[in-house]
Amino acid sequence: MAEILVLVDHVDGAVRKTTNELLTIARRIGEPSAVFIGSGAAPVEALAKFGAEKVYVVDDAEIKGYLVAPKAEVLQQIAAQANPGAILISSSAEGKEIAARLAIKLESGVITDAVDVDANGVTTQSVFAGNYTVQAKVTKGTPIITVKPNAAAPEEVAGAGTAVPTAVTISDAAKAATIVASQPRQATGRPELTEAAIVVSGGRGTGGDFTAVEALADELGAAVGASRAAVDSGWKPHTFQVGQTGKVVSPQLYVANGISGAIQHRAGMQTSKTIVAVNKDEEAPIFELVDFGVVGDLHTVLPALTNEIKARKG
Ligand code: FAD
Repeated sequence: MAEILVLVDHVDGAVRKTTNELLTIARRIGEPSAVFIGSGAAPVEALAKFGAEKVYVVDDAEIKGYLVAPKAEVLQQIAAQANPGAILISSSAEGKEIAARLAIKLESGVITDAVDVDANGVTTQSVFAGNYTVQAKVTKGTPIITVKPNAAAPEEVAGAGTAVPTAVTISDAAKAATIVASQPRQATGRPELTEAAIVVSGGRGTGGDFTAVEALADELGAAVGASRAAVDSGWKPHTFQVGQTGKVVSPQLYVANGISGAIQHRAGMQTSKTIVAVNKDEEAPIFELVDFGVVGDLHTVLPALTNEIKARKG
């Protein structure tokens, strides 16, 4: 079985859930190997728990001051050694840029934003603002696929991983763009919007009062999102915006509250697995795409729902 390389997405060695999802998908296609670029102890055990038999460990002393180009060179050099059957990368802005650069280096086809990948490497993507679902497969070179968060439920396996310390050479050309400053995301105690399994969003219908939206989100362990109308009104920063000009989310559950369902909002959430909407207008377009719809005032419906969930949890 071919090795499947998975680029590890992590923050100071703490592996993000998206990587566990990629390892789970990689196991369908071949034998997963992780590529960890970082300093300090590599999270070999954490990666083995989701099936990484080998972990290529690349010390990032020479890499971390630069933007994405060196990471593409790392993958190029490991691919030359491992001759993998495919390379899987998280569908973040950085992941997609790495994938594009790597595709040129390996003269390979690349597919971005897959929401599923089957055992034959056939991907599923949602395109044209979610109006079409496309199945595709790379037919040239080493398939490079970026996969969106929540594409698979991470599955643990028994087994140990082996760290493979790997030396790489980074070209001067890859060091052209230097990072001058970086700020960690403000800690909110909630999951990151694009990675969250549940997203609870509010729109203009909140009237600027997100209390009920946030209380439900916290009860569900969810991220909070917002429509552009809510962001433009200054109720939430742009980092909360879901949609064509905001973030694209694909959670297991998306709860839209006081959001009409404009095409630009849908573009950011309609691949969510289950969609629930609360809107006081029964004609609101959002009801065309929901699995469950509640016609009512969100300031009444959401507290009742939150209390019910609390009561059932005991
Ligand atoms: P509205 O359309 O005003 O809807 C508010 C809804 O709340 C209504 O359906 C109303 O019935 C309901 N409501 C009111 N009060 C209550 C209540 N008490 N309880 C329950 N329901 C209530 N939009 C995005 O969201 N994301 C984007 O990324 C984005 N990008 C865009 C890019 C471009 C180029 C353009 C032109 C537009 C973009 N938009 C985007 C804007 C988009 O077209 C809509 O204007 C926006 O999504 C509307 O936000 P909304 O649904 O919150 O507000």
